[in-house]
Amino acid sequence: MSIAGTLMVAEKLQKQKASEQKERRFRVYAYTLGACATAVVAWDLYFARELVRAELLPVIVFSMFIGCAWYFSFSIYPRASLSISLDMAYLMTALCVLPHPLPMAVAFGGAILGCHLRLRESRVHNPFLQVLSLNTGGLVTTALTGQYLSIVLARYWEFHTLTWGTVLSVVALFLAYNLTNVAIMVVAMVLKGEPVLPHLKTYFRYLTSLEVFTMPLTLGLALLYAAAGIWGFLPLATTILLASGLLKKLNQARNELSETNEQLQDRSRELRILNTIGREISTSLDPEVVFAQVSRHVQRILDAPHLFLSLYHRIPHESYMEYVARDGVVQTRPERALGQGFTAWVVEARRPLLVQDLEVDRDSIPCAPVILAPEIRSIMSSPLIFSGETIGVLCVESPRRRAYTVDNLSVFTTIAQQAAVALENARNFQMATVDQLTHLYLRDFFYRKLSEEQARARRYGSTFTVLMLDLDSFKEINDHMGHLAGDRYLQRVGEVIRETMRAADIPCRYGGEEFCILLPETDLDGATRIAERIRTRVSKLEVRVGEDVLRTTISVGIAAYPTDFPGTIQGFLEKADQALYLAKQMGRDRVISTTARPDPARPAR
Ligand code: GH3
Ligand code: MG
Ligand code: MG
Repeated sequence: MSIAGTLMVAEKLQKQKASEQKERRFRVYAYTLGACATAVVAWDLYFARELVRAELLPVIVFSMFIGCAWYFSFSIYPRASLSISLDMAYLMTALCVLPHPLPMAVAFGGAILGCHLRLRESRVHNPFLQVLSLNTGGLVTTALTGQYLSIVLARYWEFHTLTWGTVLSVVALFLAYNLTNVAIMVVAMVLKGEPVLPHLKTYFRYLTSLEVFTMPLTLGLALLYAAAGIWGFLPLATTILLASGLLKKLNQARNELSETNEQLQDRSRELRILNTIGREISTSLDPEVVFAQVSRHVQRILDAPHLFLSLYHRIPHESYMEYVARDGVVQTRPERALGQGFTAWVVEARRPLLVQDLEVDRDSIPCAPVILAPEIRSIMSSPLIFSGETIGVLCVESPRRRAYTVDNLSVFTTIAQQAAVALENARNFQMATVDQLTHLYLRDFFYRKLSEEQARARRYGSTFTVLMLDLDSFKEINDHMGHLAGDRYLQRVGEVIRETMRAADIPCRYGGEEFCILLPETDLDGATRIAERIRTRVSKLEVRVGEDVLRTTISVGIAAYPTDFPGTIQGFLEKADQALYLAKQMGRDRVISTTARPDPARPAR
C-alpha cells in the first residue's frame, strides 16, 4: 500500500474512532440523565407514598394522556422534520393542578408509556433503554423545573379562577418547559457532534410558535380540573387527544400519498426513458452506437457506472463480441470463440441475473459473471432475446451493495428487449452490407454510397476518387497453398485496407480478390498517397500458414471525379478498372491513375 493509501486508511480509522467516542459520550449522558431522574422520582415518591396512594387515579390518567399524546404526535411541516405532540399541555396541566411531587410521577409514567408505544411502531431500530433514559430524563427534569417555578410563583399559582397571575404562571411554565427542553437537546447534540445552530433555528421558527397553543389549552384544562376534578378534565382532554390522533392518521395518509406519488413519478420517468431509448436506438444500425445509446439512457435511471454487452454469433462459428462502457467511454473487444464463459451460460439458461452483494452471494451465483472492476458489488444482467433466440446479454454493474432491486430488474429487462430488436436490426444490416470474410462493404452498398457521393459532388462542386485494387498473381497462391490459405490472406488484406482508411471512406470487396474504395472529398494527389500506402503495406504483408509464408503485391487504378466521369457511375468505375488494367500491364505492384502513361523507368515484369 502507498503512503497516501496508508494515510487515508489511518484517517478513516481515526474518524471512525472519533464518532464511536461521541456515540459513547452521548450514551453515558442519556443513561446518567435517566438514572438521575429515576432516583429523584423514586426518592420523592417514597416520602410521598400516602399522597400517591390517595391520588393514584389522576396520576394514572395524566400519565396515560402524556404517553398517548406522545404516541399521537403529528407533523405540520414534514420538510422541517419536526413533530408536535400534546404531552406538554398535559404535563403543564398536571404541574398546575397536582400537588408535589405527583407531576414528576406523571412525567415518569408518561415517558415510559410513550417510549413503549413509539418504539413499537418505529421502523428503524432504536436502543430502547437509551431512548427511554433520555426521554424520561428530559420529561422529569422539565417537571422538576416546573415544580420549582410553582414554588417561586406561589403567590400567583392559583387555578380556581382565571386571573392575570394564572396566565403569568402558565406563560412562565411554557418558557421554562421550552428552555429545559432546549438545554437537554443542545447538550445531546453537542455530545453527538451534530450541528446545533440550524436545529435551534428550526426549533424556534416552527415548534415554539406552533406550540404556543398549549398555553390556552393548559389554562382551560387546569381550570376545568380545578372546578370539577378529574371528571371535568377528562372530556376536553380526551377530545383533544382524539383530534391529535386524527391528525396523526392524516399525516400517515399524506406520507403514503407522497410515497405513491414519488413511485409514480419514478415509473413515469422510466416510461419516458424507455420511450426515448426505443425511438433513438431503432434508428442506429451499428451495434456499438446502439450500445452507447442504451448505456447513456440506462445510466439516467440506474446506478450503472459499468455496462457490458455481449453479442452472440451462431454462424459462421459460435463466437461472441463484447462491448464495454466505463464512465461513458465505449470499447469494443475482439471477437472470441464461445467457450464456457458467462455469455455461453446466458445463451443456454436464458435467465436474468441479480447479484445484490457479490461478496455475500459469490457462492450461490450459477455462473461466474464478467466483473468489470475489482470493486464491483452489485450486478444485474438480462438476456437479449429476439424472436425466441438468445442473441446476447446486457449487464450493469456497480461498486455499491444492493444497487439494484427486483423493480429495477423488470425495467432493465424491458430495456434489454428493446436493445435486442435494435441490435438484431443492426446485425442484419451488417450482414446485408458487409462481407463476412474481409469485413469490408459489399458491392451493392458501395454502389449506393458512390451514387450518393456523386450527387453530392455535383450539387456542391466537390471532388472524390475511386480506387480499384486487384491482388497480383493471386491464382498462384490458391493453386500452391489452397483456397483456405488464400482466404486467410484475403482476410488480412481486408484488415490492412480498413486500418488505412479514414472514417468517411467506403472500402468494399468488389469481387473475389478485387477491392474498390470510395474516397469522398479527396483529389487525385490525396488518393494516390492513400493508394501508395495500401500498396506498400500489402507488399510488406506476410501471412504465415503452417510452414509457409504467403506474400504478394497489389495493383491499384484510380479514377477522379469530375475529370474521369463519363456521365454514368458504371462508366466511372470502368475508368478506374482501365487504370488498374494499365497497372497490371505495366508490371503490377503499382498505382496508376487514368491520366497516367506507362513509366519507362519501371520495367514490366
Ligand atoms: P493478376 O490479377 O495479377 O492478373 O493475376 P491473378 O492470378 O490474381 O488473376 P485474377 O485477378 O484473375 O485472379 C483471380 C483468382 O483469385 C481466381 C481465384 O483463384 C482467386 N480468388 C477469387 N476469389 C477468391 C476467394 O474468395 N478466395 C480465394 N482463396 N481465392 C479467390
Ligand atoms: Mg488478381
Ligand atoms: Mg482479379
